Amino acid sequence: MGSDHPIVIQSMTNTPTADINATVAQVKELADAGSELVRLTVNDFEATAAIPEIVKKLTALNCHVPLIGDFHYNGHILLTKYPETAQALSKYRINPGNVGKGEKHDENFATMVQVAIKHDKPVRIGVNWGSLDQELFTKRMDDNAKLAQPKDFKEVVIEAMISSALDSAAYAKKLGLAHNKIVLSVKMSEVQDMISVYQKICKQTDYVMHLGLTEAGGNIKGIAASSAALGILLQQGYGDTIRMSLTPEPGVSRDLEVRACKALLQSMDFRYFMPSVTSCPGCGRTNSNKFVELAKDINTYIEITMPHWKLHYPGVEKMKVAVMGCVVNGPGESKYADIGISLPGSSEKPSIPIFQDGELLMTLKGDDPKIKETFIEILETYIQKKFSVSS
Ligand code: SF4
Repeated sequence: MGSDHPIVIQSMTNTPTADINATVAQVKELADAGSELVRLTVNDFEATAAIPEIVKKLTALNCHVPLIGDFHYNGHILLTKYPETAQALSKYRINPGNVGKGEKHDENFATMVQVAIKHDKPVRIGVNWGSLDQELFTKRMDDNAKLAQPKDFKEVVIEAMISSALDSAAYAKKLGLAHNKIVLSVKMSEVQDMISVYQKICKQTDYVMHLGLTEAGGNIKGIAASSAALGILLQQGYGDTIRMSLTPEPGVSRDLEVRACKALLQSMDFRYFMPSVTSCPGCGRTNSNKFVELAKDINTYIEITMPHWKLHYPGVEKMKVAVMGCVVNGPGESKYADIGISLPGSSEKPSIPIFQDGELLMTLKGDDPKIKETFIEILETYIQKKFSVSS
């Protein structure tokens, strides 16, 4: 993580960690979808005791995704009482706002950091504005009130969050945790606040940074808000690991948050996971659902076939495919893609040109009953020819 390494995708389970089978199944689902780190709640003795067994079962399933333990309030007790769990986890997340009050704050924090040092584990110091260290924040507010021109509330919150993260990191280093074993995050739930707090902290330090818009919401709203916030920061060169904290929708897989992260990274050309399909939105020029269905079918085919392609055709993930709805932008986009197809619009000549590497490869008849099959065959032939290791 960090430096020139690729941006890492993280996710988090929502099963009770003590329910070993359910947790193993969900970690596997998230890892299969492309999550490269999975965080689990470690909130009580049962959850803590379950971790080594979860790791064992995942290993038996050939799933080796690193697991991060998420600790609040009692992490110092759990990590001390369960050394096997402390060893089995790959990283600990400590929230400095939830480690105790007064003298206990530093004492409990130090206990967890010392366990991390003993087991050679990295630590994420994860500040969240919903659980900001209240003693630190109150002091900041009091100091602010004494200023001739007090800053506004949000500004004080942002400064307190940054201070909580950096002071905790400095303390962890003083205790002996190496600089490169520390990850920071300062999550907020409003897009502009989140961008602002990360821009400020990233200018002050070079710790590995985990980005996330906390409590982003569900579905379209959550994905749009997270993409806006993460996209701006990533474009500015900030952030080493990312997560989209989406509220789950009933009946929708938890892996949506992972797929959304992949789509974001690929759409910004930061990482590539599978061939991308450029398709137009359709408009009054398309008089049937034919092109919409074809675009959907090609996307589904790529998703299903990618695990196989990945093993045999390195580089295929960068391929570009176009599925377009009419002559206006169809041929242009199709020529730009590696493989492209342009279906005829309502008042156009009923022919379907297919382009390969910018050249017209063939033209199908508008009423060809095997458009999808032919296009998939062309796709497969192209991939085998262009991306085979032996080619
Ligand atoms: S390519 Fe044609 S069908 Fe697609 S949106 Fe543009 S004009 Fe409409």
